[in-house]
Amino acid sequence: MATDFDAVIIGAGFGGMYMLHRLRGKGFSARVLEAGTGVGGTWYWNRYPGARCDVESVQYSYQFSKELEQDWEWSERYATQPEILRYANHVADRFDLRRDIRFETRVTKATFDETENLWRVEAGKGDVLTARFVITAMGCLSSPNTPRIEGLADFKGPIYHTGNWPHDGVDFTGKTVGVIGTGSSAIQSIPLIAAQAKHLTVFQRTANYTIPAHNGPLDADYVKAIKASYPEMRRRAKTKPAGIDFEIPTASAIETPEEERTRKFQERWDYGGLGFMASFNDLLLNDDSNKAAADFVKAKIREIVKDPVTAEVLTPRNIIGCKRLCVDSGYWATFNRPNVTLVDIRDEPIERITTAGVHAKGQDYIFDCLVLATGFDAMTGALLKVDLRGRGGVPLKDRWNEGPKTYLGLTVVGFPNLFMITGPGSPSVLTNMLPSIEQHVDFITECLDAMRAKGVNVIEPVEQAQEEWVSHVGSVADITLRSTCSSWYVGANIPGKPRVFMPYIGGLPAYIQRCEAVVAGDYVGFALSP
Ligand code: NAP
Repeated sequence: MATDFDAVIIGAGFGGMYMLHRLRGKGFSARVLEAGTGVGGTWYWNRYPGARCDVESVQYSYQFSKELEQDWEWSERYATQPEILRYANHVADRFDLRRDIRFETRVTKATFDETENLWRVEAGKGDVLTARFVITAMGCLSSPNTPRIEGLADFKGPIYHTGNWPHDGVDFTGKTVGVIGTGSSAIQSIPLIAAQAKHLTVFQRTANYTIPAHNGPLDADYVKAIKASYPEMRRRAKTKPAGIDFEIPTASAIETPEEERTRKFQERWDYGGLGFMASFNDLLLNDDSNKAAADFVKAKIREIVKDPVTAEVLTPRNIIGCKRLCVDSGYWATFNRPNVTLVDIRDEPIERITTAGVHAKGQDYIFDCLVLATGFDAMTGALLKVDLRGRGGVPLKDRWNEGPKTYLGLTVVGFPNLFMITGPGSPSVLTNMLPSIEQHVDFITECLDAMRAKGVNVIEPVEQAQEEWVSHVGSVADITLRSTCSSWYVGANIPGKPRVFMPYIGGLPAYIQRCEAVVAGDYVGFALSP
């Protein structure tokens, strides 16, 4: 049966936009359905003050178009959200993508019709589109987590979630503000909110590690040199576990003499950013090495934060790098400001939100507005919000009631012709998202092209291949310390969510190799049918 489109793509972030571009290039018809009014995904929704990417701008960018690479000019080492959103819009215009994107269209349900071998995609207002393929490009951190704190609906002032920030911005001047959460979003926004607000109170459940960004404008000569060597840089990046061109250490922290070890940590601290975890090769493998790195950062907190009690509360107790490391501009020093108060709710959760503020630790805190920097239902949240139904009408949430099970983080048994860009079980959030997105999009495009050439209509992973992949994802996760703490990587931030380490931690090069072997073996692990 003829379908409206070859493919429906859900989401117009970096994944959805590039997917559309590639499918068009191969002569497939595609329609992108996007809930927002514009492109950009994460960078469309996360407009909180201080939002910027913690991967350097020259690396966090598309590489599929040499002309785009040469024409686009990044202004800072770490690009701000507005600059990244401008980039996304530039890409949409440059490649004339908007004519195939339907905005303000939230997909609610998609059902596979086994008789016709097609997907019926329902998008609000009773619209149904049919397509042979559904490709999700909804992002890994796109379903905001609103904590279930009693009384939240009663608060009389505005409540802002960092993951769904007002487009016109928020002016905190003269306001008393309460921020709940101390993850990456909070750590980026707190210094800026504090600089504006009359008073800021931060409610901290878990203290976090953060490394200074040392952000700044990009030097013209540096940009010129990067532009002259993009292909080599991109090639090197693909050989690195995180898909970022960065020197990989060979020395163990604990086997390095203390003085030299401290010098190395200091060197990485002074350079700034996520590369701190690459000071040595075993920070996420060896408890003692991890402790050495953690102790270095803890000493920095004591050095920066003047009040010893506040410094103690800000000092993380878990291992470094287990939760996603944060990158900041002036976070700890913000707690030296007279208009900033830190409330430690580690042992006593917030009791309730009142009409006027927050009741915690037996005390009432009065606010004009509240900021929820409480993160996301990561990796599976957005996928499960859409009622995805595969063979036999089985919902994806039933398939995943023990945690996500995928083949390569791209496909799911029982869900033919469904692809997920950066789905759970792929390197995604543990890597530079842009190259990971491009790799997935290229894989999907080549797969659809190969199916067309072979006269194959339906592709679906086989149970054994999926089981083997799920078990491989789990066993590599077990090797690292990263799977050991209560992070969103394991779903621990969402009450009732199955505790499974969701991304693939084997590194981008191993993952790419595996995908290439699957293709070379004529789609090993998949059942292809006419
Ligand atoms: P997050 O890391 O999950 O942090 C959420 C914070 O809210 C945590 O401190 C959490 O405490 C707290 N929280 C949640 N529910 C709470 C409750 N009921 N009561 C009190 N506190 C509560 O979320 P995020 O900061 O939005 O960051 C998520 C991810 O997005 C990051 O890890 C990163 O991958 C990405 N991100 C990247 C950037 C960047 O590129 N620079 C910026 C922002 C975000 P617990 O830790 O105790 O759960």
